Amino acid sequence: MEQTLSIIKPDAVAKGVIGKIMDRFESNGLRIAAAKKMQLSEADAQAFYAVHAERPFFKDLVEFMISGPVVAMVLEGEGAMAKNRDLMGATNPQEAEPGTIRADFADSIDANAVHGSDSVENAKNEIKFFFSDREIV
Ligand code: GDP
Repeated sequence: MEQTLSIIKPDAVAKGVIGKIMDRFESNGLRIAAAKKMQLSEADAQAFYAVHAERPFFKDLVEFMISGPVVAMVLEGEGAMAKNRDLMGATNPQEAEPGTIRADFADSIDANAVHGSDSVENAKNEIKFFFSDREIV
């Protein structure tokens, strides 16, 4: 079964909407195969977002991702990667479709509530970044 990585970002954790966001996944056919709350280090965030290292917003992105705890999850289901992207909505919450996670819970393009892998290949690497095999059940 296809798997993807989701992260509930520090803004949504601070707002107390972990449960509401998890419910979006579980109510839409995505099983939570792994989950953990953690505080990322600066090195963790830089490594996770290495693909964006040259972007002007990289420093802000890293600072934001270490500004408080996150919840990392493995979501599993048919077409899990694309389904999660649909549930998340556009990167900029102002452009996100009504009813999406970002439309409902995000404040800005920096503080946009969730991360989701953008390809099945990236999902595999991102899952390995956060979880060992025995944590995915
Ligand atoms: P995602 O896959 O929808 O999360 O978007 P990307 O992979 O393109 O970007 C990763 C994250 O970087 C986004 O979720 C935003 O938090 C942040 N980001 C992307 N584009 C911008 C931008 O133009 N400005 C700022 N400040 N942050 C951005």
